[in-house]
Amino acid sequence: MKVLKFGGTSVSSVETVKNISAILKRTTEKQIVVCSALSKVTNMLTEAGDKAAAGDISYREISAQIEKRHYDFIDALIEPSQQNDLKGKIHNYITRLDKVLESIYFLNELSERAYYIIVSFGERMSNDIIYRYLQIHNGNVDFLDSSQIIITRPVGGKEHVNRTVTYENIRKNWNPNADITVAPGFISKSEKGYATTLGRGGSDYTAALYAAALDASMLEIWTDVSGIYTSDPRKVAKAYPLDKVSYREALELSNFGAKVIYAPTVQPVMEKKIPMKILNTFQPDDEGTLVSTETSHDIPIKAISTMENIAMITFSGTGLVGTTGIAGRLFSMLSRNNINITIICQASSEMSICLAIDSKDADKAVKAINEEFDFEIRKDTVNKTVAENDYAIVAMVGEGMKNYAGLTGKAFTALGNANINIHAIVQDSTEVNVSIIVKKVDATNALNVLHDVFFNN
Ligand code: ADP
Ligand code: ASP
Ligand code: MG
Repeated sequence: MKVLKFGGTSVSSVETVKNISAILKRTTEKQIVVCSALSKVTNMLTEAGDKAAAGDISYREISAQIEKRHYDFIDALIEPSQQNDLKGKIHNYITRLDKVLESIYFLNELSERAYYIIVSFGERMSNDIIYRYLQIHNGNVDFLDSSQIIITRPVGGKEHVNRTVTYENIRKNWNPNADITVAPGFISKSEKGYATTLGRGGSDYTAALYAAALDASMLEIWTDVSGIYTSDPRKVAKAYPLDKVSYREALELSNFGAKVIYAPTVQPVMEKKIPMKILNTFQPDDEGTLVSTETSHDIPIKAISTMENIAMITFSGTGLVGTTGIAGRLFSMLSRNNINITIICQASSEMSICLAIDSKDADKAVKAINEEFDFEIRKDTVNKTVAENDYAIVAMVGEGMKNYAGLTGKAFTALGNANINIHAIVQDSTEVNVSIIVKKVDATNALNVLHDVFFNN
């Protein structure tokens, strides 16, 4: 059996839904189909929640637009005589959505639980429509409600998938007699029973969980580009698709901003060595990219990605020199506060530790660090920490980098010639990822300069 995931743009037009139906007919293997919400709908749901919390009644217009968008989509796809009260189902979802939005409006507060419920409606609606369409055009089709099967539990204040329970649920509930099973992406349930989700972009992860639980022969991620490119094609005009990358390379790229795969997706398929293909729903015959244990070593750097909205935090002071335990305290305290660190660097002088984190966590991190080291700050052995916003990370990724000397030198020279200032440079010890920190305004330029140097000469 194989698992196919179709992203938002792949389920938003009549043309691509027809493509989906045709793609599913290409094989006699059993298939699980995981779909996202119609494109932009998750953003609209979030916006409606934010407006309601801010006391802005126009959240109602957004929910009306969402309802109309789904009605129009149903009409474009399915004959009225075959709709089977699908619009009634959508109307029920919207009625529930409106009730949640109304309570947010009166409370003036968007809690985490309310957010989860709101955003879950996107995948509930799109998957019901696709399910109906496939029942009509692809025959023996079943439905698995991911919102009851994918189970999360809080780890460090955030909901994470409980894979053991989830895998058991999938194995228990999947009907191997159905040729096709539709299972919504993104949505899940907490151990306590309330609605949760797998994070923005999470439908890729849902698909990987189904694939790993059922030992699928393949996971196919169908999107709006023909594979993993040498760089984001929206930012680098000369980027081109790669034929293969290793799991490790896919992991590094997705962790460092390549949105084409949601980072948590890689782990479950890597553990089971399930090959994953990135394919284009708009050009179904394109080769796409194969992600597996293999990689091609013909080019040292496989791809370059960027992560924007990075804040740099410099933790410094004479108290750091030769003292053990200070770094440990810093990292445990950040972890207790749920602050994810993307990059850590320390110069050999040990006078400072520099951290790259998501800008949205910057104020919280600074406050927590200054509180934790209040005594040392007053003694003047640790300097008061401040955050500098508006940085970006440019990550060069490739398993072949370790065999080549002088790559970082080449990158430095090219960026220097383009007048781009490098704030820090970090290489992981396995040499699969070299990350350069630059100002956010320079990020796209840096990406193109490096792409020209390593791919277009
Ligand atoms: P979907 O809705 O199908 O999940 P996403 O928008 O999440 O699609 O991911 C696809 C997008 O990822 C592409 O349109 C592209 O702009 C972006 N992207 C970023 N980096 C890369 C890369 N290295 N290769 C391909 N696409 C990339
Ligand atoms: N609809 C969700 C999002 O936009 C999940 C996904 O598309 O993967 O983030
Ligand atoms: Mg995505």
